[in-house]
Amino acid sequence: MPGHDVIVVGAGITGLASAYHIKRNNPDMSVCLVEKEKTYAQGNTGRSAAGFRDTFTSEMNYILSSSSIEFYKHVQNKLGFNLGMDSCGYLFLLESGKLDSPAIKKVMSRSRGKIVSASDVENSGINTKPEKDVAEMMNLPEIGGGFLGENCGIIEPDLICSFYDSELRKMGVELKYGTKVNSLSLAPTKTLDYPGEPFLWQDKTINSLETNSGELKAEKYVLCTDVWTTDLLAPLGIDSHTLPKKRQIFQASGKEVQNMVSKRMDGSEGTFPFLILPSCGIYLRPEPKSKSFWISTADDIGRPYSYEEDPQPEKDFYNLGMLPVAQEYIPQIKNSKITSSWAGHYAYNTIDKTHYIFESLNVIVATGTSGSGIMKGDSAGRVVSAIVSGEKTAKTFTNRVINVDELGIKKRKVEIEELVI
Ligand SMILES: Cc1cc2nc3c(=O)[nH]c(=O)nc-3n(C[C@H](O)[C@H](O)[C@H](O)COP(=O)(O)OP(=O)(O)OC[C@H]3O[C@@H](n4cnc5c(N)ncnc54)[C@H](O)[C@@H]3O)c2cc1C
Repeated sequence: MPGHDVIVVGAGITGLASAYHIKRNNPDMSVCLVEKEKTYAQGNTGRSAAGFRDTFTSEMNYILSSSSIEFYKHVQNKLGFNLGMDSCGYLFLLESGKLDSPAIKKVMSRSRGKIVSASDVENSGINTKPEKDVAEMMNLPEIGGGFLGENCGIIEPDLICSFYDSELRKMGVELKYGTKVNSLSLAPTKTLDYPGEPFLWQDKTINSLETNSGELKAEKYVLCTDVWTTDLLAPLGIDSHTLPKKRQIFQASGKEVQNMVSKRMDGSEGTFPFLILPSCGIYLRPEPKSKSFWISTADDIGRPYSYEEDPQPEKDFYNLGMLPVAQEYIPQIKNSKITSSWAGHYAYNTIDKTHYIFESLNVIVATGTSGSGIMKGDSAGRVVSAIVSGEKTAKTFTNRVINVDELGIKKRKVEIEELVI
């Protein structure tokens, strides 16, 4: 007799949102959340740059992100639970030829935003014309203007997780922090009690989770274990379809950075937009609390797909890679100091860079968040919940309908995203 109806593994944003929607939609179900760390948001959720945007070219990404953003706004503004949400905007700095590209046109047709002129960009303190020799050597384009996404900004993932965690407690979900799942144990659906089961010809199911504090049983299991998913699925012969890649963040602080971060583009009081440079995918995330910029990039060729147990930020990667590019456009960081740095991983869906949410046996897997799992977290949780309930469609917070199969493997229907950061 199973101990629970559902066990969700992983207390990052995906697992917490999934457990929350499963329990909300099925109050009679016994739901348990298992996490190897002592509390929530200790995996990649807590290492995130935590920007949010609805500026995607793929319809699926737009639905997942815009609905989650509305839900987070609802939590902060209507339920009064502070999520540190600040709609400071995302400013994509672009070469002049890219300002009216099909990607920008597509995004502008449904997301709130506007084109910003080169002189407005320049007046906000950004250098649009990198020095000629440097520009030639480092392939740095001149900035011809920008696209400012207005339904975009920054959020605090710890606080979103804290919201879900407190709701789970109120709803009676059992939270097992400090519990590591070592493996999923495969068994025949009808046991013969014969050594060596399950045999080739027997139907199979996941019978239990083997953890550091014993065996846990449920009817269904949900894996929201991000880059750790492959370790749990591969021994069963199930493909996670994802690969890990290291990602690093460097916090740059200093007087000039402080002045820039604490103002909007037009100089009024507020927060400078999240900046995306036109070169190397480098971005600067404003951090109003410490009045610093978090500087990062999703580097591609040369950065291996591999998992590091304790990923460390690489000073040379910043000093020789990101800084020389970033300071050409943002001179304010020339005299800044690195006051903190950390690293984590993206769990990449290497094809279309959107979540994979699929069912295999009695396990539902939600992974492949590809660097945008915070901003799509609530919607992903709703899709997981629909699959647990055996439904074909999930409804997002904004009442958009998602055919759950479209985020799966066999009947997947997700466009390749063109605006990847
Ligand atoms: C540097 C960086 C910058 C990013 N920037 C952004 C951004 O700006 N915006 C955005 O939306 N996203 C961003 N992301 C991506 C985002 O952080 C992830 O997509 C998201 O956090 C994934 O959430 P998750 O819950 O799926 O995974 P995680 O938060 O990693 O949670 C998985 C959990 O599973 C637990 N777990 C794993 N294995 C086991 C086991 N065997 N037993 C028990 N527990 C287990 C882990 O301890 C962990 O807590 C960024 C990520 C990084 C690294």
